[in-house]
Amino acid sequence: MRLDKLLADSGFGTRSQVKRLIKKGFVTVNGETIKDPSFNVDPQKDEVLVDGELVEYEKDYYLILHKPQGYITSTKDRQMTVMELIADIPRFERLFPVGRLDKDAEGLLLITNDGELAHRLTHPKWKVPKVYFVVVEGKLNEENLEPLKKGIELKDFRAKPAKVRILKAEESESEAEIEITEGKYHQVKRMFEKIGHPVKYLRRIQFGNLKLGNLPVGEYRFLTKEELKELK
Ligand code: URA
Repeated sequence: MRLDKLLADSGFGTRSQVKRLIKKGFVTVNGETIKDPSFNVDPQKDEVLVDGELVEYEKDYYLILHKPQGYITSTKDRQMTVMELIADIPRFERLFPVGRLDKDAEGLLLITNDGELAHRLTHPKWKVPKVYFVVVEGKLNEENLEPLKKGIELKDFRAKPAKVRILKAEESESEAEIEITEGKYHQVKRMFEKIGHPVKYLRRIQFGNLKLGNLPVGEYRFLTKEELKELK
Protein backbone atom coordinates (compact mmCIF):
# COMPACT_ATOMS: atom_id res chain seq x y z
CA MET A 1 0.00 0.00 0.00
CA ARG A 2 1.00 3.66 -0.36
CA LEU A 3 3.04 5.10 2.48
CA ASP A 4 0.71 8.09 2.91
CA LYS A 5 -2.31 5.78 3.17
CA LEU A 6 -0.64 3.61 5.77
CA LEU A 7 0.11 6.65 7.93
CA ALA A 8 -3.33 8.21 7.53
CA ASP A 9 -5.01 4.88 8.33
CA SER A 10 -2.82 4.48 11.37
CA GLY A 11 -3.90 7.79 12.83
CA PHE A 12 -1.02 10.13 11.96
CA GLY A 13 -3.32 12.70 10.37
CA THR A 14 -5.26 13.35 7.21
CA ARG A 15 -3.82 12.40 3.81
CA SER A 16 -2.50 15.93 3.25
CA GLN A 17 -1.06 16.16 6.77
CA VAL A 18 0.84 12.89 6.43
CA LYS A 19 2.07 13.84 2.94
CA ARG A 20 3.64 16.89 4.53
CA LEU A 21 5.27 14.74 7.23
CA ILE A 22 6.72 12.48 4.56
CA LYS A 23 7.98 15.31 2.34
CA LYS A 24 9.66 16.96 5.31
CA GLY A 25 11.66 13.79 5.95
CA PHE A 26 10.06 12.61 9.22
CA VAL A 27 9.36 9.14 7.88
CA THR A 28 11.71 6.21 7.50
CA VAL A 29 11.04 2.81 5.95
CA ASN A 30 13.44 0.09 7.08
CA GLY A 31 15.86 2.75 8.25
CA GLU A 32 15.84 4.83 5.08
CA THR A 33 14.22 8.27 4.88
CA ILE A 34 11.47 8.22 2.26
CA LYS A 35 10.13 11.52 0.92
CA ASP A 36 7.75 10.10 -1.67
CA PRO A 37 4.16 9.75 -0.33
CA SER A 38 3.32 7.18 -3.01
CA PHE A 39 6.19 4.90 -1.95
CA ASN A 40 4.98 1.34 -1.71
CA VAL A 41 5.12 -0.39 1.69
CA ASP A 42 4.02 -3.69 3.10
CA PRO A 43 2.49 -2.93 6.52
CA GLN A 44 3.14 -6.48 7.72
CA LYS A 45 6.82 -6.60 6.75
CA ASP A 46 8.29 -3.12 6.51
CA GLU A 47 9.33 -1.15 9.57
CA VAL A 48 7.91 2.34 9.25
CA LEU A 49 8.83 5.05 11.75
CA VAL A 50 7.39 8.56 12.07
CA ASP A 51 9.87 10.75 13.88
CA GLY A 52 11.19 7.60 15.53
CA GLU A 53 7.76 6.23 16.50
CA LEU A 54 6.91 2.81 15.15
CA VAL A 55 3.77 2.74 13.03
CA GLU A 56 1.55 -0.10 14.10
CA TYR A 57 -0.93 -0.84 11.42
CA GLU A 58 -4.36 -1.79 12.83
CA LYS A 59 -3.42 -0.01 15.99
CA ASP A 60 -5.98 0.31 18.71
CA TYR A 61 -7.65 3.62 19.38
CA TYR A 62 -8.87 4.80 22.75
CA LEU A 63 -10.62 8.09 23.13
CA ILE A 64 -13.05 9.93 25.35
CA LEU A 65 -15.92 11.78 23.74
CA HIS A 66 -17.99 14.38 25.59
CA LYS A 67 -21.32 13.25 24.23
CA PRO A 68 -23.83 16.04 23.72
CA GLN A 69 -27.58 15.62 24.21
CA GLY A 70 -29.47 14.51 21.11
CA TYR A 71 -27.02 11.85 19.91
CA ILE A 72 -27.66 8.11 20.01
CA THR A 73 -24.94 5.92 21.54
CA SER A 74 -24.70 3.46 18.70
CA THR A 75 -22.62 2.86 15.59
CA LYS A 76 -25.64 2.84 13.29
CA ASP A 77 -29.05 4.41 13.62
CA ARG A 78 -31.51 6.40 11.54
CA GLN A 79 -30.99 9.25 14.00
CA MET A 80 -27.75 11.12 14.67
CA THR A 81 -25.19 8.88 16.37
CA VAL A 82 -22.07 9.68 18.34
CA MET A 83 -20.03 8.34 15.39
CA GLU A 84 -20.66 11.61 13.56
CA LEU A 85 -18.61 13.38 16.20
CA ILE A 86 -15.50 11.28 15.54
CA ALA A 87 -15.80 11.05 11.76
CA ASP A 88 -12.53 12.90 11.20
CA ILE A 89 -10.56 9.94 12.61
CA PRO A 90 -9.15 7.71 9.85
CA ARG A 91 -11.33 4.62 9.47
CA PHE A 92 -13.51 5.70 12.36
CA GLU A 93 -16.08 3.13 11.24
CA ARG A 94 -14.23 0.38 13.10
CA LEU A 95 -14.56 2.21 16.43
CA PHE A 96 -17.47 1.75 18.80
CA PRO A 97 -18.67 3.17 22.12
CA VAL A 98 -18.13 1.22 25.34
CA GLY A 99 -21.42 1.15 27.23
CA ARG A 100 -24.27 3.54 26.62
CA LEU A 101 -25.59 6.94 27.50
CA ASP A 102 -29.22 7.89 26.90
CA LYS A 103 -30.03 10.17 23.98
CA ASP A 104 -30.80 13.04 26.35
CA ALA A 105 -27.73 12.42 28.52
CA GLU A 106 -24.36 14.09 28.20
CA GLY A 107 -20.91 13.16 29.29
CA LEU A 108 -18.03 10.77 29.10
CA LEU A 109 -18.15 8.05 26.51
CA LEU A 110 -15.15 5.80 25.94
CA ILE A 111 -14.71 4.90 22.29
CA THR A 112 -12.31 2.25 21.00
CA ASN A 113 -11.79 -0.59 18.56
CA ASP A 114 -10.40 -2.84 21.30
CA GLY A 115 -13.18 -5.39 21.68
CA GLU A 116 -11.49 -7.28 24.46
CA LEU A 117 -11.16 -4.23 26.69
CA ALA A 118 -14.70 -3.10 25.89
CA HIS A 119 -16.05 -6.48 26.88
CA ARG A 120 -14.17 -6.46 30.15
CA LEU A 121 -15.16 -2.91 31.09
CA THR A 122 -18.85 -3.57 30.56
CA HIS A 123 -18.89 -6.95 32.31
CA PRO A 124 -20.64 -6.73 35.71
CA LYS A 125 -17.90 -8.85 37.28
CA TRP A 126 -15.40 -5.99 37.07
CA LYS A 127 -17.70 -3.46 38.78
CA VAL A 128 -16.29 -0.46 36.93
CA PRO A 129 -17.43 2.65 38.85
CA LYS A 130 -19.34 5.27 36.91
CA VAL A 131 -20.02 8.71 38.35
CA TYR A 132 -22.90 10.89 37.21
CA PHE A 133 -23.79 14.49 37.91
CA VAL A 134 -27.55 14.89 38.05
CA VAL A 135 -30.09 17.65 38.40
CA VAL A 136 -33.30 16.31 39.90
CA GLU A 137 -36.72 17.69 40.68
CA GLY A 138 -37.42 18.75 44.28
CA LYS A 139 -35.33 19.12 47.40
CA LEU A 140 -32.99 16.22 48.19
CA ASN A 141 -31.99 15.49 51.76
CA GLU A 142 -29.85 12.83 53.38
CA GLU A 143 -32.89 10.95 54.57
CA ASN A 144 -34.55 10.45 51.20
CA LEU A 145 -31.24 9.34 49.69
CA GLU A 146 -31.00 6.44 52.14
CA PRO A 147 -32.67 3.87 49.84
CA LEU A 148 -30.12 4.63 47.12
CA LYS A 149 -27.28 4.19 49.59
CA LYS A 150 -28.71 0.92 50.88
CA GLY A 151 -29.59 -0.53 47.50
CA ILE A 152 -32.98 -0.02 45.94
CA GLU A 153 -35.49 -2.42 44.42
CA LEU A 154 -36.38 -1.49 40.86
CA LYS A 155 -38.86 -3.21 38.56
CA ASP A 156 -36.54 -5.89 37.22
CA PHE A 157 -33.56 -5.89 39.59
CA ARG A 158 -32.20 -4.59 42.85
CA ALA A 159 -29.66 -1.81 42.35
CA LYS A 160 -26.55 -2.24 44.47
CA PRO A 161 -25.75 0.39 47.11
CA ALA A 162 -24.64 3.63 45.49
CA LYS A 163 -22.48 6.46 46.76
CA VAL A 164 -24.46 9.70 46.61
CA ARG A 165 -23.45 13.23 47.47
CA ILE A 166 -25.77 16.24 47.51
CA LEU A 167 -24.19 19.28 45.89
CA LYS A 168 -27.12 21.68 46.06
CA ALA A 169 -30.64 21.35 47.45
CA GLU A 170 -33.39 23.85 46.70
CA GLU A 171 -37.19 23.56 46.81
CA SER A 172 -37.57 23.32 43.04
CA GLU A 173 -34.47 21.29 42.15
CA SER A 174 -31.31 19.72 43.52
CA GLU A 175 -27.92 18.68 42.24
CA ALA A 176 -26.06 15.53 43.23
CA GLU A 177 -23.30 13.13 42.26
CA ILE A 178 -23.97 9.42 42.23
CA GLU A 179 -21.56 6.55 41.78
CA ILE A 180 -22.78 3.17 40.61
CA THR A 181 -20.97 0.08 39.40
CA GLU A 182 -23.76 -1.39 37.32
CA GLY A 183 -25.03 -0.14 34.01
CA LYS A 184 -28.65 -1.17 33.58
CA TYR A 185 -30.99 0.60 31.19
CA HIS A 186 -31.90 4.08 32.52
CA GLN A 187 -30.50 3.01 35.86
CA VAL A 188 -29.72 6.39 37.41
CA LYS A 189 -32.97 7.91 36.20
CA ARG A 190 -34.93 4.97 37.58
CA MET A 191 -33.18 5.13 40.93
CA PHE A 192 -34.01 8.80 41.47
CA GLU A 193 -37.50 8.38 40.05
CA LYS A 194 -38.12 5.67 42.64
CA ILE A 195 -37.32 8.02 45.53
CA GLY A 196 -39.59 10.69 44.07
CA HIS A 197 -36.98 12.94 42.44
CA PRO A 198 -37.10 12.54 38.65
CA VAL A 199 -33.88 13.38 36.80
CA LYS A 200 -34.00 16.54 34.70
CA TYR A 201 -30.41 16.42 33.52
CA LEU A 202 -27.69 13.76 33.58
CA ARG A 203 -24.01 13.92 32.75
CA ARG A 204 -21.45 11.13 33.20
CA ILE A 205 -18.31 12.64 34.64
CA GLN A 206 -16.26 9.53 35.35
CA PHE A 207 -15.85 6.03 33.96
CA GLY A 208 -13.40 3.84 35.86
CA ASN A 209 -10.24 5.91 36.18
CA LEU A 210 -11.23 8.20 33.30
CA LYS A 211 -12.45 11.70 34.09
CA LEU A 212 -14.35 14.02 31.78
CA GLY A 213 -12.56 17.09 33.17
CA ASN A 214 -13.12 20.21 31.12
CA LEU A 215 -13.36 18.53 27.72
CA PRO A 216 -15.89 20.68 25.81
CA VAL A 217 -19.25 19.16 24.82
CA GLY A 218 -19.07 17.47 21.42
CA GLU A 219 -15.29 17.12 21.46
CA TYR A 220 -13.03 14.12 21.93
CA ARG A 221 -9.50 13.48 23.05
CA PHE A 222 -7.24 10.43 22.99
CA LEU A 223 -6.40 8.78 26.28
CA THR A 224 -2.98 9.49 27.70
CA LYS A 225 -0.53 6.61 28.02
CA GLU A 226 -1.02 6.69 31.80
CA GLU A 227 -4.81 6.56 31.56
CA LEU A 228 -4.61 3.63 29.19
CA LYS A 229 -2.19 1.74 31.38
CA GLU A 230 -4.47 2.17 34.42
CA LEU A 231 -7.55 1.20 32.45
CA LYS A 232 -6.01 -2.01 31.18
N1 URA B 1 -28.29 6.09 33.83
C1 URA B 1 -29.29 6.64 33.10
O1 URA B 1 -30.41 6.71 33.54
N2 URA B 1 -28.99 7.11 31.89
C2 URA B 1 -27.77 7.07 31.35
O2 URA B 1 -27.56 7.53 30.23
C3 URA B 1 -26.75 6.50 32.12
C4 URA B 1 -27.04 6.02 33.35
